[in-house]
Amino acid sequence: MIKVNRLSKAFGKNEVLQSIDLSVEKGEVVVILGPSGSGKTTLLRCINFLEKPNGGEITIGDHTVNCKRPSKLDIHILRRKTAMVFQHYNLFKHKTALENVMEGLIIVQKLSKEKAKEISVQMLEKVGLGSKLDAYPSRLSGGQQQRVGIARALALNPEVILFDEPTSSLDPELVGEVLSVIRKIAREGITMIVVTHEMGFARDVANHVVFMEGGVIVEEGKPSEIFYAPKEERTKQFLSRIT
Ligand code: ADP
Repeated sequence: MIKVNRLSKAFGKNEVLQSIDLSVEKGEVVVILGPSGSGKTTLLRCINFLEKPNGGEITIGDHTVNCKRPSKLDIHILRRKTAMVFQHYNLFKHKTALENVMEGLIIVQKLSKEKAKEISVQMLEKVGLGSKLDAYPSRLSGGQQQRVGIARALALNPEVILFDEPTSSLDPELVGEVLSVIRKIAREGITMIVVTHEMGFARDVANHVVFMEGGVIVEEGKPSEIFYAPKEERTKQFLSRIT
C-alpha cells in the first residue's frame, strides 16, 4: 500500500532523514515514536511532498515517485492520495466548520457545492460535530477544531491519513475526545500513519510501531514487541523516560 525506500532529507548539512525504509499495509495503523528532533514530522511531510525529499522512492497504491526527479503530476497524485491532520489544526479562521471541510472538495476535487456539502456534513457528524456546522473556529474548543481537521481529512477519502502529533497542542482534558475519534476511524480500516507521544493510544490502536531517533529507524515491530520487549538500548531508554 505504502512503501518508502531509502528516503533521505537534509536541511543544509543537517541530515534529518537517513535512508528511511518503511512499509505500511492497507488498513494498518502505524505509530511513529521518538524523541523531539528525530525526524518524525519531516518523514510525514516528505510522504506528501510538503517537504521535498533529497532522494529515495515513495509508493502509494499503484503510483511510485522517484524523489530526486518528481514531476508535477507525481506530486499532485501523491497529494491526492494522502490527507494530513496537523498539530495546530490549520483551519481557515474566517470559514465555518462546514466550509473548512468543503473547501478541499470544491477546490481540489472539483465537486459541486451540493455534493461537497453532503459529504462534509456526514464527516462532521462522524466526528461528533453535527451540531457545530456553522461555528467558526474561534467558537470551538481545541478538541473540536482538531475534530474538524479530522473531518476535513476524511472527506477527501484519501488512501492514507497522516497525523502529525494531533493532540500535542491540546489541553489535557481535550486529548481524550480527539483520540477516541481517531480510534473510531482506525477501526473502520482507514490506513493511518500517526506521529504521537500518546503511549496508551499507541499501545491499543497501532498495528505497527516505529521508533525513530537521529533520522533513522532504530527499531520497529508490533506494539507488544516494542513496548514490552524492545531489543535496542535506545528504544528502552526512550520508553523508560516517557512511560
Ligand atoms: P520531530 O518531528 O521528530 O520532532 P522534526 O522532523 O520536526 O523532528 O525535525 C527534525 C530535525 O529537522 C530537527 O533538527 C529540526 O530542527 C530540523 N528541521 C525541521 N524542519 C526544518 C526546516 N523547515 N528547516 C530547517 N530545519 C528543519
